[in-house]
Amino acid sequence: MGHQTNKQIILKNYVNGFPTESDMEVRNGAIQLKLPEGSNGVLVKNLYLSCDPYMRNRMSNIKGSYIDSFTPGSTITGFGVSKVIESGRADLNKDDLVWGLTGWEEYSLITAPETLIKIQHTHDVPLSYYTGILGLPGLTAYVGFYDICSPKKGDTVFVSAASGAVGQLVGQFAKSFGCYVVGSAGSDEKVNLLKNKFGFDDGFNYKEEHDLDAAFKRYFPNGIDIYFDHVGGKMLDAVLANMRLNGRIAICGMISQYNLEKSEGVHNLMELVAKRIQMKGFLILDSYHLYPKYLETILPLIREGKIVYVEDIDEGLENAPKALIGLFHGRNVGKQVVVVARK
Ligand code: NAP
Repeated sequence: MGHQTNKQIILKNYVNGFPTESDMEVRNGAIQLKLPEGSNGVLVKNLYLSCDPYMRNRMSNIKGSYIDSFTPGSTITGFGVSKVIESGRADLNKDDLVWGLTGWEEYSLITAPETLIKIQHTHDVPLSYYTGILGLPGLTAYVGFYDICSPKKGDTVFVSAASGAVGQLVGQFAKSFGCYVVGSAGSDEKVNLLKNKFGFDDGFNYKEEHDLDAAFKRYFPNGIDIYFDHVGGKMLDAVLANMRLNGRIAICGMISQYNLEKSEGVHNLMELVAKRIQMKGFLILDSYHLYPKYLETILPLIREGKIVYVEDIDEGLENAPKALIGLFHGRNVGKQVVVVARK
């Protein structure tokens, strides 16, 4: 194969505040569908792209972040599912399916192919799941809940952004472990999913709760043992005041702060002392080694229908900017995926 047109999503400029579609553009590039001589890279056709909140970080010029910023004028990169066209990596062959870091474009030459994980696709689970329940969000929920939260049967658990890619799984893991689980989400439709699809004991629309402290006193009259935090800010503050003795807080993310020029303060930290609460942040990038074990655990649960997963799928690479910025407005219902091609 020779030169091929290659539609790409470019970051136009660094972003301040909320990202908008005009911070990105669709460009018609070209790619040589042949590996350069001697390359150990992997040439792929991209199928499904994952939209993830951490990508907002990469859209600004932040010094000293745990992850590099995108370069204005260059193709955005992120996690995705791809099909191998040609491989310089010994264990990958043409037509193999992989997930890992790729470009927001139709075809990519991946020059750090060690980040790619080969998918043993069995056709009884959707391939797009490797951006979500079978990818990093799934592993995040698993490690975050079982390792960071140290759950005990009967614990009361609160999950914020509970209908999202990670949250819907945290809730289901906690329920199956024997915990009492309440989630918050930003619409009645999402709260309905929490209670009727994911099996949460209860849920509330935080946008309609003007007094979060009162809401927690209503949903957790005896307090919260575990908080799985996805949003930070005022929610974290209100939770702190409602934690129980020896509670655990897993700081997975703080999406309510990502677009603010200056983070909101958290005022109730003294609760950590008085109630001997452990609050721990974690990055899933440190737990890649647990992925095979996680996969072995989760696949049978999906097949037996014991765990369900909701995705929000947008068709077409050109819709990727809209899908990405939608995360910061709660537009996605479930895991946000963009389909570039289905095979
Ligand atoms: P997601 O929940 O599928 O999507 C983001 C959701 O966040 C939106 O749908 C929206 O839902 C909610 N949201 C947006 N702005 C908000 C605000 N100002 N206040 C409250 N909620 C807001 O995303 P995800 O992939 O599962 O990620 C969830 C969190 O986990 C993020 O903070 C992310 O950075 C973090 N994360 C961390 C790791 C790690 O390694 N530590 C790995 C993966 C994800 P509502 O409609 O409910 O508001």
